[in-house]
Amino acid sequence: PRQSTRPEEPEQASPAQEEPSLFEKCHRFFDPSGDYAKLKQADLYPYFRPIEESEGSRAVMNGDELVMAGSNNYLGLTADPRVKEAAQEATATYGTGCTGSRFLNGTLDLHLELEEKLADFMGKEEAVLFSTGYMTNEGVLEAVAGRGDIIFSDKDNHACINAGAQKSLAETKRYRHNDFDHLRKMLKRAHEERPDAGKLIATDGVFSMSGKIARVPDLLDLADEFDAALMLDDAHAIGVIGDGGRGSASTFGRKDDVHLITGTFSKSFASIGGFCVGDHDVVEYIRHEASTHVFSASMPPSTVATVLKSLEILQDEPERLDRLHEISDYMRDGFRNLGFDVWESETPIIPVVIGDMELCFRFWRELIDEGVFVNAVVPPAVPKGQALMRTSYMATHTDEELDQILDAFHKVGKKLGVIGTNGHEVPA
Ligand code: PMP
Repeated sequence: PRQSTRPEEPEQASPAQEEPSLFEKCHRFFDPSGDYAKLKQADLYPYFRPIEESEGSRAVMNGDELVMAGSNNYLGLTADPRVKEAAQEATATYGTGCTGSRFLNGTLDLHLELEEKLADFMGKEEAVLFSTGYMTNEGVLEAVAGRGDIIFSDKDNHACINAGAQKSLAETKRYRHNDFDHLRKMLKRAHEERPDAGKLIATDGVFSMSGKIARVPDLLDLADEFDAALMLDDAHAIGVIGDGGRGSASTFGRKDDVHLITGTFSKSFASIGGFCVGDHDVVEYIRHEASTHVFSASMPPSTVATVLKSLEILQDEPERLDRLHEISDYMRDGFRNLGFDVWESETPIIPVVIGDMELCFRFWRELIDEGVFVNAVVPPAVPKGQALMRTSYMATHTDEELDQILDAFHKVGKKLGVIGTNGHEVPA
């Protein structure tokens, strides 16, 4: 072995240094009297828990096999042998990564094939890929809106829309969730005061905590009346709802009227990455102007191949979507019959309201002990007192798994007093 030419030097103890005050908040976060330390101590901290194995609807955590009801793997394709094989083949042909941006050395023929197929699938002129869904919305907003423009954004939109709006330097006005009277007032005023400003309404197509679908026809009417463009973030909608999985606008037969639709590959497409579809010139402009596209490495070959195969399966096996909706209806009814509040869910995202934060964490822990994984969502992601179990479903869940989930909620719900002890039984 090669010897280092430098003699080993014992590390010098540096004279006592004052730590920059910048980091004080980091230590405060771990204060023994704070929420984090208390939850950790009681083994109630639900986040960053490692999964040791996963087969889609089942996962192993801490040696225990759990039913997975907390994933966005809507079509259950992460474990599909055809999808895995496509990922492996792409790695064999192209290697493990692209090591560069699409703009330079990071464009593969596979990326172009996927863009073409997505544009076709969505019935739009052009598509552009990004390396995550987050970067998609951030980049699209940054590119199409700028100083002098105005973005109107639903208050419950995903964080990446807020990030993109901020980065764009456009004036951003946030309207109350799904409150179109409020939006109308804002648009009217902006139209009167600044008729020449470019205007964009940006909304999640399906809201990620409530599972509710945005009312696209109302938004389109307002966009039309006030000369605004409409952008939908269909992360939880494409490959999930609408005609053949074409997303939220498609559920109203209005897909062709929406100016920009974004999506992600980290959910129904079993991978990672994102895309935006729209008219040719607008999307080509985004391709050149979105910093998250131009200055960041492109999707690795295995991930692109995963999406191509998943898109093919989505189109060849429409029964997957039928099953997903059947499951979602069954679970919504099941939770309601047990006496739980599932908000306004209309999709495979089904929130189950628990109440205060600590109760929510205890509920989560008890569900793990019953063999069920869900996500605990607490304020500020949801209103105070409305902490919830965010459950979500995939086309590959079996009837037995679904009943195991309902049984577990029934048992824990009664034990912790979230539902009455005389609550209805689990439907057969
Ligand atoms: N938009 C919405 C509505 C989301 O829920 C998410 C992620 N959960 C994203 C965008 C970001 O997508 P990704 O995780 O693929 O970056």
